[in-house]
Amino acid sequence: MILSVVVPCYNEEAVLPETARRLLALLNELVGDGRIASGSHVIFVDDGSRDRTWPLIEELSSLHSCVRGLKLSRNRGHQNALLAGLFAAEGDAVVTVDADLQDDLGAIVEMLVAHAHGAEVVYGVRKHRSTDTLFKRFTAEAYYRMVARMGVEIIFNHADYRLLGRRALEALRQFGESNLFLRGIIPQLGFPSAIVYYDRAERFAGESKYPLGKMLAFAWQGVTSFSAAPLRMITGLGVLISLASFAVTIWAVWIRLFSDSAVPGWASTVVPMYLLGGVQLLCIGIIGEYLAKIYMETKRRPQFFVERYSGAWPGGDTACR
Ligand code: UDP
Ligand code: MG
Repeated sequence: MILSVVVPCYNEEAVLPETARRLLALLNELVGDGRIASGSHVIFVDDGSRDRTWPLIEELSSLHSCVRGLKLSRNRGHQNALLAGLFAAEGDAVVTVDADLQDDLGAIVEMLVAHAHGAEVVYGVRKHRSTDTLFKRFTAEAYYRMVARMGVEIIFNHADYRLLGRRALEALRQFGESNLFLRGIIPQLGFPSAIVYYDRAERFAGESKYPLGKMLAFAWQGVTSFSAAPLRMITGLGVLISLASFAVTIWAVWIRLFSDSAVPGWASTVVPMYLLGGVQLLCIGIIGEYLAKIYMETKRRPQFFVERYSGAWPGGDTACR
């Protein structure tokens, strides 16, 4: 069985040599054990880095025949870098793993075992979040709960560290959407799956390429790609507000008819005005989000272009040196 390991890299010059060293050692060991075939390889996807990431990848792939490189024409984000790698990979199984060595590479061995036992998809799930900030831990937990309630099938504490078998990979390729939120799509493929628990370490070097803004955009993408719940909430909100204003109307009429304290309504005019204004804007905003999504999807724009390749792509001498 040939294994492809796909590693998205964005400005990872600080960790890349170490990542490559550890991955190659692991591949060699696995090939030695006869768990994977000798054509197994690592694919580093350079997601438009501005540092020395690509030259490093080129160097690695000239030194090691089982290292391949793939350079995207510009930064397209983690998910697209993953897709580029997944679509280029020809292994019988593909493992995707971050470049920063936060994910314990040893879990790959367990993933292979689970795959050998029939799991087409093996999810790497973090045992704990002790390396995260309190803020990250809290928001992550809240987010997983929220999307789960909205009906998105999602594996708690699983990021993009996973193994996909050939069949799962072929299935994934059939998705026509251009904005793929892999964590939501993959459980939908529906093949037998397994979970492998692993320890998540601190970043080996360099800093996170996921600042808060990117994180939020990614989270929102996960919601709107899978769920119409926000749209439905608008309807619910509309019903509530209508009921409330109906009550206010009755109250206003009551005051007008049956009391003499009617200096009618600064409050009852101004409050609903602001309230409704706010709610309407919010609703239009959410509808707009979905419209924008439809707009983007109908264009069917490709999500990435590969600018250059390095290393031994199909054929050639693929034995690990
Ligand atoms: N990454 C990428 N493109 C981006 C941002 C990140 O390919 O635009 C890669 C990055 O090099 C790393 C992985 O995605 O291999 C995860 O990013 P990071 O470790 O910075 O995220 P965090 O672990 O902090 O959530
Ligand atoms: Mg990381």
